[in-house]
Amino acid sequence: MKILRKASEVQETVTRARAAGLTIGFVPTMGALHEGHLSLVRQARRECGLVIASIFVNPLQFGPAEDLDRYPRPFEEDCALLEKEKTDLLFAPGVDEMYPAGFSTRVALQDRELTDILCGAVRPGHFEGVTTVVARLFCITMPQRVYMGAKDYQQGVIVRRMARDLGFGLEVKLLPIVRDRDGLALSSRNRYLSESDRRRALALPETLGWLADRIKAEPAADIGKLREEALKKLQAAVDRVDYLEIRDPETLRPAVRRQPALIVLAACFAGQTRLIDNVIISL
Ligand code: AMP
Repeated sequence: MKILRKASEVQETVTRARAAGLTIGFVPTMGALHEGHLSLVRQARRECGLVIASIFVNPLQFGPAEDLDRYPRPFEEDCALLEKEKTDLLFAPGVDEMYPAGFSTRVALQDRELTDILCGAVRPGHFEGVTTVVARLFCITMPQRVYMGAKDYQQGVIVRRMARDLGFGLEVKLLPIVRDRDGLALSSRNRYLSESDRRRALALPETLGWLADRIKAEPAADIGKLREEALKKLQAAVDRVDYLEIRDPETLRPAVRRQPALIVLAACFAGQTRLIDNVIISL
């Protein structure tokens, strides 16, 4: 696996690969890799001629009180994991490479109904940080296929929209959430959880599963009422709930009645650790 720190070197490699007719698959990450990330790399490996992963802890997407400084950075372990999955190229830039002195461009959706809801409502500026870094990464890696996880579902919808609006000519694939055996969605932040945090954190997938089952099993029930019940359950079990919402999976607008596909999304805290999760429901 080639490890490159400079954007220009990645662009040279990609230009050669594209000229040789290879399909470029790209997996953007912030490192501290786990099976969720690796599932994306594996899918890219199956479908693409050149697989690029990136590791960059993007300061622009962290709020001032968030965990930027203590975000885990086990770089050597990450390299070994990527190597094992036969990643061709790892782009691991420093902050100065991504945002050199004088960098002043931001990429942001104007559709506030996508960016200022759910996670965006409690993490102001977060998605602007995401779209800015991802746009820059797309310009550097020039992929035809991008592999992202459905765990960050709102992020996936927003990045797809940005890529379409700006005409990057790529497909954003949102792959299923990879979970631990106990049901908790894998996350780099799970390593912050104490044993008792982790026990409380399990209420997140359990409540989402409970709500999805009730919606499916009780066709006559009011989904708003079921949502309120689920919210109360989650509030009783964890330390803070940011939201628990039933939405349309395409638009992320509130779903007030049953429709063929729904998504339940939630974010909450166990101890100091913020967790997100979601379940798609097909009726
Ligand atoms: P991150 O390193 O947290 O920025 O995540 C990088 C990519 O991995 C994003 O597209 C995430 O949605 C995806 N990802 C993170 N956790 C999981 C998971 N448990 N299952 C599937 N994809 C995931």
